[in-house]
Amino acid sequence: MLNIDLHCHSTASDGLLSPTQLVEHAATQGVAVLALTDHDDVAGLDEARRAAVEKNIVFINGVEISVNWRGQTLHIVGLGIDPEHPQLAQGLTSIREGRTVRAGKIAAQLDKFGIHGSFEGACRNAGNGHLIGRLHFARFLVQQGYAKDVRSVFKKYLVKGKPGYAPHQWAPLSDAIDWIRNSGGRAVIAHPGRYKLGKGALDELLLEFRTLGGEAIEVITASHTPEQSMLFARHSQRLGLLASRGSDFHGPGESYFDLGRMPPLPDYCKPVWHDWKGAA
Ligand code: AMP
Ligand code: MN
Ligand code: MN
Ligand code: MN
Repeated sequence: MLNIDLHCHSTASDGLLSPTQLVEHAATQGVAVLALTDHDDVAGLDEARRAAVEKNIVFINGVEISVNWRGQTLHIVGLGIDPEHPQLAQGLTSIREGRTVRAGKIAAQLDKFGIHGSFEGACRNAGNGHLIGRLHFARFLVQQGYAKDVRSVFKKYLVKGKPGYAPHQWAPLSDAIDWIRNSGGRAVIAHPGRYKLGKGALDELLLEFRTLGGEAIEVITASHTPEQSMLFARHSQRLGLLASRGSDFHGPGESYFDLGRMPPLPDYCKPVWHDWKGAA
């Protein structure tokens, strides 16, 4: 069976490896089909694709779009997108601009708490011209000794009710799905087990997503326990949604799964790659 990993991050968003390094690492892990899915940016795709050709890896253009739904932040992965599609490109540009504004608010919140220089620190971690996210702040807080690792940062900072939190308005769910579909891609709900939704609201989300043209959900992801993977495998089967598999790898030492090192999809799931050339 081909080893397929359809969710990971490079330095184009909040990953630690450059697109080339990421693809080279995927090759050492035996990944045969890889999608790069940086948050709200497609800047790493060209470089990753060139590296994938060298390594004989089938490469899928991807993106992970931040959206709001009923006041919660959700992530929608787009697979097989055209990164040059104007509507998608414009949508992502506006999300990235919003990220810069939010970063100023996060820094102001940390300032109030006596933690200074976080905007500059996070920008340094993000690298020149790249988007800025909470993980760049989290790494700054680790570098400054406020926490032992990024996982602990997200228990004490940057989340609702803790220092360094700034509420933010992302794209509407319907827009993200439209951008992905209109650019030729397939929309996937990322790590559905991570959202704080009761059973009723979760069902409503899955149905609304499907009605809006969403096609798949992540069944296998680092965010899911084995029980959650089973639960979402059954949801995908019940609702006729395709199933996806991704590590959500951000970098060595920072991620629960290494690239491609996750369990397989349950046999009865219909994979999101079922009709892809070189993957099915
Ligand atoms: P943002 O999109 O800027 O709000 O940042 C979200 C990112 O922060 C996620 O994609 C993860 O990379 C990281 N993150 C969020 N929560 C955690 C956590 N509990 N542990 C480690 N990383 C996290
Ligand atoms: Mn991330
Ligand atoms: Mn995510
Ligand atoms: Mn991700």
